[in-house]
Amino acid sequence: MEALAVRETPEMPGNVEITDITAEARGNAAFDGHERIVRAVDADAGLHAIVAIHDRTLGPAIGGCRMWPYESEDAALTDALRLSRGMTYKSAMAGVPFGGGKAVILGDPRTGKSGALFRAFGRAVETLAGTYISGEDVGVTVDDMNRAAEETSHILGTGERGGDPSPWTAYGVSVGIEAAVRHRLGRDSLAGATVAVQGAGSVGYKLCDRLAFRGAKLIVADISPEAAMRAGAAFDADVVAPDEIHGVQADVFAPCALGAAIDDDTVGRLRCAVVAGSANNQLREARHGEALRARNVLYAPDYVINAGGMIALTLQLHPDGFSPGRAGERTAAIGWTLAEIFERADREGSSPAAVADRIARERIANPAGRTW
Ligand code: NAD
Repeated sequence: MEALAVRETPEMPGNVEITDITAEARGNAAFDGHERIVRAVDADAGLHAIVAIHDRTLGPAIGGCRMWPYESEDAALTDALRLSRGMTYKSAMAGVPFGGGKAVILGDPRTGKSGALFRAFGRAVETLAGTYISGEDVGVTVDDMNRAAEETSHILGTGERGGDPSPWTAYGVSVGIEAAVRHRLGRDSLAGATVAVQGAGSVGYKLCDRLAFRGAKLIVADISPEAAMRAGAAFDADVVAPDEIHGVQADVFAPCALGAAIDDDTVGRLRCAVVAGSANNQLREARHGEALRARNVLYAPDYVINAGGMIALTLQLHPDGFSPGRAGERTAAIGWTLAEIFERADREGSSPAAVADRIARERIANPAGRTW
């Protein structure tokens, strides 16, 4: 077989072909004034990815890389657009000097991975010259990011730079659940509270661990029976079917799987006082934040409560470097941020989701002086 010619240009590093698709992405309903969207393809390495940079007003766009068997490129683009916007708001609310971006790789993480694929992804990130900084998300591991980091320095969450962020994310979510329970139920402790956890993966499992330690009673569901049984056995949790978890009687419903856990169907089935979990984009549409309020369910805005991993990883770039103490302090502050959002929402007769969006937009509109 004849060797393929390799063009070494900035647009085509190695075999990765980078195409700017910002103009065509404007037609997607999830487009929200995004700065730049690129498609990265390396047929030899099996890479087909989309990187969306939403906003860099507060700093370089940061956001993990997700690998998922999307039905189509349009579905992947929608996910990248929504997730990158969420990252802009997450950075703004966490008070870190970064903007929002996200990468999605089209493919099955169980069967489609290789070192070559993630090195090709690293080359794609390198072409963005530090305007986008990547890391792990669903379907992507520290090992995968180690491979990507062989080609670019714009990666966090490698073995040498922070590692797996999920313990910090789980810590932030547990603090956030405590804040929500205090606000909505007037309880200072989780002892005896029931939490229904949807998804017992990296974050969900560690969250269960923290909640069980604090005396919460757990109900878990996962589309992977092994993951559900593992959490059930470890934390003496009841295991229910994935389509039943929304409707169980609980104080808290914690979505820790993929997005859109709250939609027209599930919002009517909830039998909880609080929705607070790690998943990104928990509301299928913005109006579902108001739908939760109408049912007297307190919602902890996803990009506020799930920022712990991002906070810990970005400290790798802090002038004084990472320290567990600083990461812990800043992640624990998620509880105070949520308490303020809940109080403001009550005062204004608004949903916490709408209040958080407003505060994030105010911060982005007034960037002067915003730093660590
Ligand atoms: P993961 O892939 O390790 O875990 C997700 C789990 O959810 C898996 O066990 C999967 O089988 C399960 N699942 C998928 N669909 C489900 C469904 N319909 N019902 C029940 N279970 C289902 O991912 P993760 O890293 O734990 O992340 C979970 C969520 O938190 C994602 O939305 C992710 O974007 C978000 N998040 C993660 C981090 C982090 O530090 N890992 C940070 C911020 C946000």
